[in-house]
Order: sequence, then structure tokens, then C-alpha cells
Amino acid sequence: MARQPLTHYAMYAVLIAVLPLAHLLVPSAIHEQTPELADYAMLLSAVLAFAYTVLCLRKPGYDRRYMVCLALGVGCWIAGMSYAIARSGTDENLVSTYVLFVSYGAPLLYAAVTTSDEPSSHPRRVVDGILLILLVVLCYLGVRDLTDGNGFLKPEDMGWVVVAFDVENLFLLGTFLVRYLTAPNEGDRRFFGIGTAFLALYAICVGVHNHDELYPATLALQRIADVLPTVPFVALICLLHANAAPRPFEPIRHAWARQLSMSLAPGLLLAAIFALSLGITERQGMFGRTVLALAMLAYVVRVTQTQFWFARTRDRLAEALSTVERVSLLDELTGIPNRRAFDQALDERTKASVREQRPLSVLMIDIDHFKTFNDTLGHPEGDVALRSVARLLAGALRRPTDFIARYGGEEFVVLLPGTDQEGAQVVARRMNRVVYDAQLEHINGIDSRVTVSIGVATRAPEKMYGVVTHADRALYRAKHAGRNRFVAETAD
Ligand code: GH3
Ligand code: MG
Ligand code: MG
Repeated sequence: MARQPLTHYAMYAVLIAVLPLAHLLVPSAIHEQTPELADYAMLLSAVLAFAYTVLCLRKPGYDRRYMVCLALGVGCWIAGMSYAIARSGTDENLVSTYVLFVSYGAPLLYAAVTTSDEPSSHPRRVVDGILLILLVVLCYLGVRDLTDGNGFLKPEDMGWVVVAFDVENLFLLGTFLVRYLTAPNEGDRRFFGIGTAFLALYAICVGVHNHDELYPATLALQRIADVLPTVPFVALICLLHANAAPRPFEPIRHAWARQLSMSLAPGLLLAAIFALSLGITERQGMFGRTVLALAMLAYVVRVTQTQFWFARTRDRLAEALSTVERVSLLDELTGIPNRRAFDQALDERTKASVREQRPLSVLMIDIDHFKTFNDTLGHPEGDVALRSVARLLAGALRRPTDFIARYGGEEFVVLLPGTDQEGAQVVARRMNRVVYDAQLEHINGIDSRVTVSIGVATRAPEKMYGVVTHADRALYRAKHAGRNRFVAETAD
């Protein structure tokens, strides 16, 4: 059957409405008030959401790490609700149920602060796990402080607790929204989109529910408020179902926004530790202070791990970059600098010559009758000869500032900074000789061996322009003069 999105949306609407409607209609039908029904409805919706989240863990479309956080968060909430139902005989507010309700935020906060550009090693997961547990303990210590001594919340403090819940829900909503807007990849965008919608519904529905419990409105409104927290959980199932498959994704245009959100995310953990530290007073004694210190220590370890990872990544990147740079400036066949490197070197050495008021000489070198070498022995042999000539020519250079590159084909170019025409001729003569003396066999070559012709051009610092063209012209003359020689051309 073809997929029909509209019918899906109708089904989602029915699913979300069914529990609140049942809660409204059942008491009228059986003519009996059933206030505890709302608690069961909430528990049922959360259990279903938990089960569906766990089911989604196996689906390839979701990031497992994020989904585990979501399942853990809903799991904490279920534990809180179950505990509340088990204690529903009493009117008092047992503090432990509130701790469980609050701690649902810890795994969700964790999801919001883990970013894809951080290390995901085993030690990192251990530190994060410890930090999460410490956050929940801090949370517990803070709320425990509000009890009357027997484990129950003081009625006059309930207002604060409800506001604290609102703050927590809005804080989580804000972090998820930022991560959604600045998601660097499709998986993040989808998860934080689902999470943002869920947390927005949760903040509204649970907010109304909590405030209504504190300041009850009319009976009809109260009945709706009672069962409102089922909405985000059933909606979560629908959201997960509707967004199971990846969608076309375009990251946010402003790279800085993405980078800022990634950089800010881990800081939220510190913000959470700070917020929870406000609840740690002298009353929690040594234990409270120790837990706080441990949480800070775990955070420091986490930051160090991240910094270490960044430092190592930066070094590896720099190494890779320098390799790429080096390779991009070398000629693949001969291993000496290539034309690109020559262009750079020519620019640098020309400027240096002008600066230092010293001449610059250029040698343009071309292998003689190389076409026939390839035609008789084949291109692979030609390549071997090219490599040998490159090695011989490079070996003929003495000064560290001298530079040789493969200009193209079977042509080479040499830069001799601070060298006058006389010096350049010495080098050119040496180059002719080393290639000739190497006796690389070339049947149709001069004296049956590979030889080179060289054009030499020397320019005074005030007339640098066109030095390469002059060397090329001189090379042409060397070819015409019989090859296996050099011809020097001076500035006109
Ligand atoms: P001349 O003495 O006038 O320089 O004669 P030549 O045959 O060398 O003439 P030219 O410089 O025009 O020939 C260039 C030849 O160099 C063409 C090609 O066969 C050869 N060649 C250019 N690049 C390569 C290369 O990368 N490998 C090989 N094997 N041969 C190359
Ligand atoms: Mg040539
Ligand atoms: Mg040639």
C-alpha cells in the first residue's frame, strides 16, 4: 500500500487525543470520579514512548547515542511516575519522586552537549557517565534540602519546585532548539528537531499540569490539565514514527553559528553544574561538597580530553596539510620541484635580487632529440632517462639558494640568485658535462648518448623583467648552434 502522509497525520492526531479524551469521558460514562486514572494514563503514555524509543534504537536512521539518552530520560520519568503512583495513598509530596522527575533532564542535557566534532572514545564515555551520575546526585542533594526532615517536600516550597521544573524544561528546550537550528548534519537535525518538538510540548503540557496542581482552576480545566502530560509522550512516538527516514539536508549557511553552537554546547554542562551547585549549602556537609568537587573534577577531565583531542587533530591536520603542500609543489615523475614551485621561486628570488641589488641568472635546459628517444625506446624508457637527467642536473647545483624545477615535458629550468653571467656559464658548462659523461644511451643522440642544450640569461637587478624569455631565446640559439652546449645571452 502506498504511503499516505495525510492518513498518517490523522492517525497521529487520534493517538494524541485518545488518552485525554478517555480521561474526560470515562468518569461521565461510569458516573464516578477516578482521579488516579490520569496518573495511569501518564504512566502508560511514557511507557509506550520509552518502548518505541528503545525499538528505534535498532533502526539505522537514528543516532544510537542520542536515542539512548532519550530512552534514559523517559525511563527516569517513568520511575518518578511509578513511585508517585505507589505513594498515591498519601497526600504528601515525597521528595524522591521529584528527584526522579528532575533527573529525566540529565540524559537529555547530555545529548545536547555531546557534539559530533568531539572525541567519542571509551574513556570519554566513562567520564561522561560519571558526570551524569554526579549531576543526578547533585540534583537529589539540592531537592533533599527542601524536605521537612521525613523525606517530604514542605508545602510552602512547592511553588519553588514547580518554577524550578519550568526553568529546567525551558533550559532543555533552548539547548535542543539551538542544536536543531545549527545542526551540522542530517542525523543531528532530525534528532534535535524531534527533541525540540517533544520538549516544547512537554514544557507547555507539564507546566500547565504542575501550575494547575498548585493553583487549581475550574473542574473541567483541571480534568484536562490532569492528563495533559500524556500529550508530549504520545507525540514523541508520532514524531519518531514520522521522522524515521533521512531527509534532504542543508546545513545552516552561517558557518559561525554552527561553530558557536558546537563550542557552546559543552559549556552547558558547566552551567548545569553551576546551577546545581547553588543548591549545595552547608547543610549537605562534607558529602555535598565532595560530590560537587568530583563533578568539577570530571568536568576538568572532560575539558582536558577535548583539548587534547583538538591539539592532536590540529597537529595531524597541519602534518597532512604540509604533506599536501609539499606534494603539490613536486613533480610526480622526477621528484624535483614542478612548474608551480618554479613560479613561486621565481617571484621570491626576483624580489630578493632586487632587494639585495644582486644579479639573477636563469638556465633553460632541454634534452636533445628526445622525441626520437621516445620513438625508438618507448615512453617508459624515456621517463627513466628524464629521471636520470633530473638527478644529474640537480646534482650539478652547489649553492643552497640555487633552484631547479621541471619546466614541462623534457625541459628544466634553473634559478641562480646572486650569480653573474660568468658564474652561470660555469654551472651551465658543468651541467652539459655531467649529462654527457653519464653516457645515457641514445642511438640517435649526439655521440649516441643523451645530451642537453642550455640557454643562459643573466639580468641585473634593475632589469629583471623577461629573464625567462631571454633564457628561452638563448636555448633556441644553442639548439641551432648544434646542441649539447650552452649559449649565454645578456641583457640588452
Ligand atoms: P630538440 O633537440 O630540438 O629538443 O628535439 P626534441 O625531440 O627533444 O624536441 P622537443 O623538445 O620538441 O620534444 C619534446 C619531446 O619530449 C616530446 C616527447 O616525446 C618528449 N617528452 C615530453 N615530456 C615527456 C615525458 O614526460 N616523458 C617522456 N618519456 N617523454 C616526454
Ligand atoms: Mg622541448
Ligand atoms: Mg628537446
